[in-house]
Amino acid sequence: MATSVTLNKIVKAYGDIEVIHGIDLTIEPGEFTVFVGPSGCGKSTLLRMIAGLEPITGGDLVIDNQRMNDIPAAKRGIAMVFQSYALYPHMNVYQNLAFGLETARVPKAEIEARVTRAAEILQIVPLLKRKPKQLSGGQRQRVAIGRAIVREPKIFLFDEPLSNLDAELRVQMRVEIAKLHNDLGNTMIYVTHDQVEAMTMADKIVVLRAGVIEQAGAPLELYNNPKNLFVAGFIGSPKMNFLTATLESVDATSTRLKTAGDSVTLPRAVAGKGGDAVTFGVRPEHITITQGQGIKLADVKVDLVENLGGQTLLYTTTADGQTLTIVLEGQREAALGSSVTAYIDPARIHLFNAAGAAI
Ligand code: ADP
Ligand code: MG
Repeated sequence: MATSVTLNKIVKAYGDIEVIHGIDLTIEPGEFTVFVGPSGCGKSTLLRMIAGLEPITGGDLVIDNQRMNDIPAAKRGIAMVFQSYALYPHMNVYQNLAFGLETARVPKAEIEARVTRAAEILQIVPLLKRKPKQLSGGQRQRVAIGRAIVREPKIFLFDEPLSNLDAELRVQMRVEIAKLHNDLGNTMIYVTHDQVEAMTMADKIVVLRAGVIEQAGAPLELYNNPKNLFVAGFIGSPKMNFLTATLESVDATSTRLKTAGDSVTLPRAVAGKGGDAVTFGVRPEHITITQGQGIKLADVKVDLVENLGGQTLLYTTTADGQTLTIVLEGQREAALGSSVTAYIDPARIHLFNAAGAAI
């Protein structure tokens, strides 16, 4: 019963300025897809075109085998939840939830059943008589989501719905929206600039930059195999370390390269040749300072230590002045200014060519 969404060469221009440059994407029925990318990359524009709130300049939007470009928003079977809750201040929660259905002339008994069910799902039954100003931010956002649920849409769209909430509530609502998706099984598209939200909630992440898709795939696929420097740096926290490096030799089963410290050998071939300047990428959590675990990358100087309790972050510099962040499990000590040796698992190294593509 769930619904598929297909974008074929979708383009958006405002006047002469093209902001979405031909997006191809298939969203499977029931999938939770997250659009993520920096501010201004086109996430909201793309979502609004799917919703029917923004005309599509070029390409085809197909929902369940029907071309939707010219179908009005109200007939697309879509409900959208915004960052601003946009609740009616003079109406109580029940009335806010019921209003859209009353306008659509849904019978009273049916309205009552749908509002009650949505309120139960969102655990806001005790709040039905309250006005929005008597609710916390998280409760208001729940009512906004409830307004989408009562419409029984085929597809839910969310545009940064948690951005106005404090950190703790964001984590809580993140879990609740994920549960909601599990319970309802609808196709959902969720926009955020927060890669942690994307990683934790998505079946499929779509990383956008400047109106194009940089990469789309399952969260761990993007984490393990980023296609380019942008995705490598965007997904993962703290960010992947990047060091300048030069390939020394490449053969069928191994690649030797020189970076900040000694030469390093990777157990695979790459698309490159000796002498090529490349970028060497390693995630902070894939570096240790324990001898015997992995191969030596470089001796580094400790500039700053952050003890998070469960983890220890070391901010370090290589002999040639490049920064290297290291995440160690547990509570570890390292004196500021001291020298430690960074070890890596060569199987977890990422290499990128001069154009920024993974090799
Ligand atoms: P995001 O949601 O990823 O932050 P948007 O989709 O809002 O980005 O914007 C994408 C690009 O389109 C930006 O460069 C923005 O300035 C531009 N844009 C958005 N809306 C309009 C508009 N109504 N007129 C002109 N340009 C717009
Ligand atoms: Mg936006």
